[in-house]
Amino acid sequence: MKVAVFSTKSYDRQFLIAANYDHEHELVFLEPRLSRETALLAKGFLAVCVFVNDQLDAHVLEVLAGHGTRLIALRCAGFNNVDLKAAAKLGMTIARVPAYSPYAVAEHTVGLMLTLNRKIHRAYNRVREGNFSLDGLLGFDVHDRTIGIVGTGKIGQIVATILHGFGCQILAYDVAPNPACEAVGAKYVDLVKLFADADIVTLHCPLTPETHYLVNQDSIAQMKRGVMLINTSRGALIHTEAVIQGLKSQKIGSLALDVYEQESDLFFEDLSDQVIQDDVFERLLTFPNVLITAHQAFFTKEALQNIAETTLSNITDYQQAKSCANQVNLAQAIAPMPG
Ligand code: NAD
Repeated sequence: MKVAVFSTKSYDRQFLIAANYDHEHELVFLEPRLSRETALLAKGFLAVCVFVNDQLDAHVLEVLAGHGTRLIALRCAGFNNVDLKAAAKLGMTIARVPAYSPYAVAEHTVGLMLTLNRKIHRAYNRVREGNFSLDGLLGFDVHDRTIGIVGTGKIGQIVATILHGFGCQILAYDVAPNPACEAVGAKYVDLVKLFADADIVTLHCPLTPETHYLVNQDSIAQMKRGVMLINTSRGALIHTEAVIQGLKSQKIGSLALDVYEQESDLFFEDLSDQVIQDDVFERLLTFPNVLITAHQAFFTKEALQNIAETTLSNITDYQQAKSCANQVNLAQAIAPMPG
């Protein structure tokens, strides 16, 4: 099948080409992100392959469908960047990679936690500059601390398992509790209790209308003074300006982000020669107790192999049967929530 691959980086090309030996699709690699400006590049392609920051709003989907695209193959699990109603109306199929390496994201999350706590990022720079002082590097034992995990699916469960190994107390919140988390000692509580008791709050739920700005001025007020907040899930789970206020008042003791609400203007690009125009993001960077990585939690060899293999299998399945096991159930996804 002829596939337009948007937002291609050298690593995408490398892993997709290797996985394509078994599929023999005609892959056309395009560097630009999919947007209203670039949608016409997909003219004549039955399948379009995209990543987390490609724009798939109603207008873009209409342009794609109008020029023959029937399948959107996401190289990621989340599909919050797709207008599902528009896709359903246009009769398009949206396929995704539901799991590629939950270990990659969970391990990065714990890496951020430890780095932020022991200020390893600051120590690295200090030592290279001949500054061997320890002032300002004081951390705390993670052992016996209370960790609040919001969303205990594949990634949240692994975070719980790793932190159980550290000897942490684990509080969890999920709309669908996971027995595997309870098996490693996690105790399900409501969000108010989780926010009130957790020394570290880590987010692993998807971005939905219900979870949008889950961390906001009110929920921050419910948290412990000095809480560590980690978000490796989706940027808009937290209201960034409220978090900045929380950092300024020292209610939030430290913050690590792998995702950011406006990341599509920044992440995955080398902007080191440019003036960053996002003042909110730049304010975050001024805090010594904020650590940001640019949506790299997924970025392991195993994850990229799995993403490439599953994406191409999804395309092959669609080619053979006009459907695939990993397609988003559009009717279910756009159905109004009960109650
Ligand atoms: P998953 O579907 O296995 O788990 C998500 C969990 O969230 C489920 O248990 C679900 O019941 C729960 N949930 C849904 N709505 C909720 C709500 N309103 N409140 C609390 N919990 C709720 O997904 P996963 O594979 O564990 O991934 C979790 C998230 O991680 C993804 O949605 C994605 O946004 C993010 N992610 C980030 C990266 C990265 O590189 N930073 C990579 C992959 C995934």
